[in-house]
Amino acid sequence: MDVGRKRMLINGQWVESLNGEFIPVENPSRKGSVVGEVPRAKGVDVDRAVISANKAFEGWRKVSARERGRLMNKISEAIEAKVEEIARTTALETGNAIRTQSRPEAILTADIFRYFGGVASEIKGETIPLGENLLSYSRREPIGVVGGIVPWNSPVGLAALKIAMSITAGNTLVLKPSSEAPLAVLRLVEICAEFLPPGVINVITGTGSECGLPLAKHPLVRKLSFTGSHEIGRTIMEAAAERIVPVTLELGGKSPQIVFPDADEPQTVDGVFLAMRFTRQGQSCTAGSRLFLHESIYDSFLEKLIKKLKSLKIGDPLDESTDMGALINRTQFEKVCSYVEDGMRQKGARLLTGGLPPKEGPLSQGYFMEPTVFGNIQNEWRIAREEIFGPVLVAIPWKQEEEAIRMANDSHYGLAAFIWTHNIGKALRTAHQIESGWVQINQGVGIVPGQSYGGFKQSGFGREYSLEGMLESFTQRKSITINLQF
Ligand code: NAD
Repeated sequence: MDVGRKRMLINGQWVESLNGEFIPVENPSRKGSVVGEVPRAKGVDVDRAVISANKAFEGWRKVSARERGRLMNKISEAIEAKVEEIARTTALETGNAIRTQSRPEAILTADIFRYFGGVASEIKGETIPLGENLLSYSRREPIGVVGGIVPWNSPVGLAALKIAMSITAGNTLVLKPSSEAPLAVLRLVEICAEFLPPGVINVITGTGSECGLPLAKHPLVRKLSFTGSHEIGRTIMEAAAERIVPVTLELGGKSPQIVFPDADEPQTVDGVFLAMRFTRQGQSCTAGSRLFLHESIYDSFLEKLIKKLKSLKIGDPLDESTDMGALINRTQFEKVCSYVEDGMRQKGARLLTGGLPPKEGPLSQGYFMEPTVFGNIQNEWRIAREEIFGPVLVAIPWKQEEEAIRMANDSHYGLAAFIWTHNIGKALRTAHQIESGWVQINQGVGIVPGQSYGGFKQSGFGREYSLEGMLESFTQRKSITINLQF
């Protein structure tokens, strides 16, 4: 399937980039095969898009929050009718299996719009009791043009968030998807644009340096919302600092999973498996990729986990029976392989399953890798410290609770964490000491709209995904005080 040449949306028009150049989008499950092309936007195109969003802001900010919410609900219904199309396109361009990943992501996309449609009327201020002779109240006002930049790993879900939060709050948006996975996002924007005035939503496609950077630096962009790696997050923060605009950074992670001795059971194995996002090839910021197992259950737990991993079906993302698809591209594939080689070279480390990908056979035709687990890892080693963003889990034994918590917190990241035990005291004690933005106890699922999401430490700052996140990150508070004795 080739979706052909796509265009970008600027000021309600579907256009090519001014230079007429295109970027091919590769199908990761068939190396070298192209599934579509998108315009290669540069600074001049970014400028057109931002000017259009800036113009549309004057009208959009005046639309009542309730009406904006009504439109989000309509968008949600329209997405629901196109779930299969969005899911198939996502599977094709990302390599994420349709049953386990791409379809659930498309369904979540509709839910995100429904959630923000429902809470739109809650964009409101307070009255402040300053005394009988003063009336003081606050308003939540939109900020202006938002520059939203998203990665490829969960492209439509993350794009939906940026769109729904910024536009429901009364801002206008210039969205830049990753050039690795822009096709389903373009389809999503097409659906949104049917319900919105021209210029309220704009989407530009291109590379990070040619298109993302000019967007981050554009003088008319009043708010930056970035999801991606912490290296590029730093660049975005520098651009924000230069003009003093607010910025939200949703960055990477190396999240711990702590398994207590009483949780050596099949349901924890299933939960740990889910939390590691093996069915998204481990390409998730939330992935629980450091597994801290109590020494008394270390071998028995790993045995069960490995048995489960060996039963996974890896292959064609569009096949309904596939559990795990392909990694996004050659660069990421080679990067993950280099971490596996690094682990294999490490003295004392044990490769328990997986390893380097097959060089022959059907799996060698795409960027496929088997789920990989290393045992006897030390928390200070590179494979335990750096975000691999692949299906590579490292298992680390522990004896004392404090030791497990210390190792879990010994990371420059702090996005998520998972705790597994039936002992509520231990679970909560641990959860309160963990330095992460989101701790799950006895489950390893994805975030649900309504929960504020974001990181501690170098996993970023600012919160998104909830009403509070939208108010904090996409509105600005104004206080108005009236002297009643005048
Ligand atoms: P990335 O940082 O390379 O790219 C993210 C986006 O930034 C892309 O659209 C890219 O084109 C753009 N970009 C690249 N260079 C840029 C520049 N110089 N200026 C402006 N924009 C630029 O990340 P990726 O490889 O696409 O995605 C993987 C990363 O995203 C991982 O680190 C992962 O943990 C993180 N992530 C975080 C969350 C979260 O919510 N915290 C969610 C998903 C992914």
